[in-house]
Amino acid sequence: MKRIFLVTFIILSTILCSCSQINEESINCSLNKNLLSVHFIDVGQGDSTLLISPDNKTMLIDAGDNSHGQKVVDYLNKLNIKKIDILVGTHPDADHIGGLDYIINNFDIGYFYMPNKSHNTNTFKDVLLVAKNKSLKIHKAKSGMSFSLGKFIKCNVLSPMKNYSENNLCSLVIKSTYKNKSFLFAADAEFQNEQDMINSNYNVKSNILKLGHHGSSSSTSEGFLLKVSPDIAIISCKHNNKYNHPSEKTLTLLKKYNIPLYRTDKQDDIVLFCDGYEIFSYKRPLKL
Ligand SMILES: [Zn+2]
Repeated sequence: MKRIFLVTFIILSTILCSCSQINEESINCSLNKNLLSVHFIDVGQGDSTLLISPDNKTMLIDAGDNSHGQKVVDYLNKLNIKKIDILVGTHPDADHIGGLDYIINNFDIGYFYMPNKSHNTNTFKDVLLVAKNKSLKIHKAKSGMSFSLGKFIKCNVLSPMKNYSENNLCSLVIKSTYKNKSFLFAADAEFQNEQDMINSNYNVKSNILKLGHHGSSSSTSEGFLLKVSPDIAIISCKHNNKYNHPSEKTLTLLKKYNIPLYRTDKQDDIVLFCDGYEIFSYKRPLKL
């Protein structure tokens, strides 16, 4: 099996190494070593993040747009996943929930969370329909809620705090913690949500930040970035996308604070492993 280990040490004792691709062996490695693995699946202009807990429970946050649903299914199948214990549709936009009907149709689902926000699109209606056909209840999530992924991973919902009318502002923002390390998944949250979280005195500080709204200029304020104070940032977007994500402003901000960055448009699928004390990967972050 093609596999190259290039281990490099970076700030704050985070260990990062490099390898060709994710495969079954990586998951076996994850289980054997009591690791949490977090997979930022490349779904072009969209989001899809898979967590596999040390006790082999799975959480999928979004599944890209409709054209990437099968890719996410294939990715999960390759890892021999049969059940999604927690499925999250962060908000009704198609680049996040478009692929969820594929997931619901192809896997057993434990809990299914969505925000309290409906949308007048066929994509949104498709998700409701497949969930109904499978008798899968949709649990409405909002800030202040918490749940566990297996015995070891605690998940806190930090946003939204209000019933906003705009889809992005309704994004479910989830902080997942494993022992001393935490991951913040910001979906398409915008400045308003960031300010809400800061004003509420939520503990947003996290080692890993998946930047809001694909790195757009309307998310990741300097104040919020300083509060989160991540060791590593992740951006999920498509190469040469029409929105010009990520924005130069956001990239400049990351550079200013010397925060290493991973991008799905440049690095395809990205997997981070965490033993609760260190975070490492088979790929190196980009040079800013
Ligand atoms: Zn989006």
